[in-house]
Amino acid sequence: MGRIADRLHLIKSTLPDGVTLVAVSKFHPVAAIMEAYEAGARDFGESRVQELSGKAPQLPGDIRWHFIGHLQTNKVRQLLPHATLIHSIDSVKLLEKVEAEAARASLTTDVLLQVHVAAEETKFGFSPEELAGALTPAFIQNLAHVRIRGVMGMASNTDDTARIADDFAALRRCFDTLRSGVFAGNDSFDTLSMGMSHDYEAALKSGSTMVRIGSDIFGAREY
Ligand SMILES: *Cc1c(COP(=O)(O)O)cnc(C)c1O
Repeated sequence: MGRIADRLHLIKSTLPDGVTLVAVSKFHPVAAIMEAYEAGARDFGESRVQELSGKAPQLPGDIRWHFIGHLQTNKVRQLLPHATLIHSIDSVKLLEKVEAEAARASLTTDVLLQVHVAAEETKFGFSPEELAGALTPAFIQNLAHVRIRGVMGMASNTDDTARIADDFAALRRCFDTLRSGVFAGNDSFDTLSMGMSHDYEAALKSGSTMVRIGSDIFGAREY
């Protein structure tokens, strides 16, 4: 068995039941993805539309592709046929664009709302307060071709474990508030995507249901 398969199995063995592992394959070649696929992985994450649409046709059709990068409205049409779940909805405008393009293609698209809690100012996402204002029941009802499945977020990029724990707790609160609020009774609002290679154990403690792990599986990336 190769190194990728070894690392994948090791990580999987530490995840609680019901937690989905998304293997983040951005910047890694098709051969590396194939090795993870043969070791059982079916959920893969990519952060660029161009890269995802280049790789997907070369790989098995039962792969579930997760889009985790910043999404520009002019790339939505190209992405939709490939994406199983878009993690990075960071504005109402983008949500409306996905609705319009999904309607045009007669698709229903699953998405997560990206929430920004981290210290870095440059990160994309709604603030928890913004979401509460933007997501009225009427607005959600009008999204006939988009299913909002939950929340995605990142903790601050720091070694401060207390800050990381606070960030994940804030994301969890945001998820819970929506789930018991505007999404109450909606069983498909069930996904809290948080945790990367260096911090997924902390994310699991706050109730993450989906972790996005790249370098711990595939090794270092070159940007
Ligand atoms: C790249 C990326 C990951 C994976 O990061 P690793 O540190 O390699 O595990 C997870 N989530 C998002 C949004 C990313 O862009």
